Amino acid sequence: MINLHAKQIAVIGAGIIGLCVAERLLSEGHSVCLIDPGVPGGAQAASYGNGAFISPASVVPMTGPGLWRQVPKMLLDPTGALSVRLRDLPRLLPWLLAFLCAGNRPEKVSCIAHELNILLRDAPLRHADLAARAGLPELIRQTGLLYAFQDRAAWLVERQSWDLRADCGVVMQECDSARLRDLAPDLAPEYRFGLLIGEGAYCVDPGGYVAGLAHDLTRAGAQIRRDRVLGLDLTAGRLRGLRCEGGDVPCTDVVIAAGIASAPFARQAGDRVPLAAERGYHVEIANAPINLDVPVMPQDGKMANVTTRGGLRAAGQVEIASPDAPPNWARADVLLAHLERSYPALRGQAHDLRRWMGCRPSLPDGKPVIGRATGSPNVFYAFGHGHIGLASAPATAEIVADLIEGRRPRRDALPFSPARFRSPRGPT
Ligand SMILES: Cc1cc2nc3c(=O)[nH]c(=O)nc-3n(C[C@H](O)[C@H](O)[C@H](O)COP(=O)(O)OP(=O)(O)OC[C@H]3O[C@@H](n4cnc5c(N)ncnc54)[C@H](O)[C@@H]3O)c2cc1C
Repeated sequence: MINLHAKQIAVIGAGIIGLCVAERLLSEGHSVCLIDPGVPGGAQAASYGNGAFISPASVVPMTGPGLWRQVPKMLLDPTGALSVRLRDLPRLLPWLLAFLCAGNRPEKVSCIAHELNILLRDAPLRHADLAARAGLPELIRQTGLLYAFQDRAAWLVERQSWDLRADCGVVMQECDSARLRDLAPDLAPEYRFGLLIGEGAYCVDPGGYVAGLAHDLTRAGAQIRRDRVLGLDLTAGRLRGLRCEGGDVPCTDVVIAAGIASAPFARQAGDRVPLAAERGYHVEIANAPINLDVPVMPQDGKMANVTTRGGLRAAGQVEIASPDAPPNWARADVLLAHLERSYPALRGQAHDLRRWMGCRPSLPDGKPVIGRATGSPNVFYAFGHGHIGLASAPATAEIVADLIEGRRPRRDALPFSPARFRSPRGPT
C-alpha cells in the first residue's frame, strides 16, 4: 500500500505484540524498524513460553471480590497457584492493593470482562488470518478449547464467572463424561464435566510463530535490529528518535511494546504506569506418550495443557515477584505433578523435560495499556497484556494502527488508555 503520509516508525520489543503491531503498520505503508536485543521468538520473551490458548473465554480478570481473603495463603504458600514473593512484598504492595481493589465488586469485574471482550471476541479468527497471510497457517489450529472440571458441582462453584463469559457472547457447550472422553481420551477419569469453547484456537508453537512473523516481516521490507533501547530521544514532547546501545535510531513515531520492560519508557513519555510481573512457568515433555488434539485447561490446576511442536506443555502459575528474581523451579514441579495427575499415561515415565519461567507484563486491572502517550503525540503504547497477550495481539495492533493513522479506532480504545492511571491532580 502506498501511504502518502508514510512515517518512520520504531517498535520497541519483538514479542507477539511488537510483531503484530509492526505487521499492521507495514501493511499501512509505513517504514518499520523493530528493535529487540533478543532473537524474535526467543525464550527471553513471555511470547515464547505461554499456554498457547487463543480463547475468547479469557475475558475474566484474575482479580475478583473476596480475593483479599487469600492474601495470607498468597504470602505463605510459595507454590500456590497465585502467590506473592515475600521478599518483594514492600515494593509490590501498592500494585497488590490496586489489584485487590480493581475487582473488589462484581460490577467492576463485569466491566473489565466486557472491556477485554473488545480485544478477545474475534481473536481466533484474527490469528488464523494473520498466520495465513504470513504463510504460517499450520501454526494456528481452530480446534476449540476444553475447560475440564471434576464434576458439575466444581463448575457450579465458578458459575458466576462462566455466566459473565456467556454475557460477553462466549459460546460454550457443556460436555458430559462421555463427550469429555471423546475430546480428550487421555484425561484422567476423575474429570467428568467440561465446557467446550468451540470458537477457541491455539498456537502450536508460540515461539516459532513470533519467529515466523519476524521472518515474513523482513521479507516484506521491515527492518529488525538486534539492539537494546536505552531511552527515547524526546525534547519538549518532540520525538527525534531512540537511544540504543548500538547507536541512535531516528524515527518519527515509536510504539512501546517491550512487555515487562515498558514502564520506564512510558514514564519518559509522561505516564507513570503500575506495571508488575506476574511470573509464570511451563514444563514441556518432549517424549510424552500422549497427544492432545484439543487443548485442555483442568480447572483445579488453572494450567493450560497443550501439545506444541516441542512436546506436551503445561503452562500456568502466578507469582507476583521482581522480574529478575531467580526462578522458583518448585513451581514448575507443581505443574508437572498436576500434569501427571491429569493424564495417567504420563505416570512412571522418564520425561525428557524442559522448564521455563517468564514474566506476564501486568496492570492491576488486568487490562493492557494501548493508546497515545500524555507527553508526546508521536509515542504510542502497546504493553501490559498480562494473561491474554497472545490472544489479544491482533486487536491491539489494529487499535495502534488506527491511532497512528489518526482514524477513529474501530474498536473502543478508551478502556485501555494510560489516562486511567493518572492522578486526579494531574500527571505525576
Ligand atoms: C506461563 C504463561 C502462560 C500464558 N498463557 C497465555 C495464553 O495461553 N494465552 C495468551 O493469550 N497469553 C498467555 N500468556 C500471556 C502472554 O504470553 C503475554 O501477555 C505476551 O506474550 C506479552 O507479549 P509482549 O510482546 O508484550 O511481551 P514479550 O513477549 O515479553 O516481549 C517483549 C520483548 O521486548 C523486548 N525488550 C525488553 N526490553 C527491551 C529494550 N530495552 N529494548 C528493546 N526490546 C526490549 C524483550 O527482549 C522481548 O522480546 C501467558 C504468559 C505466561 C508467562
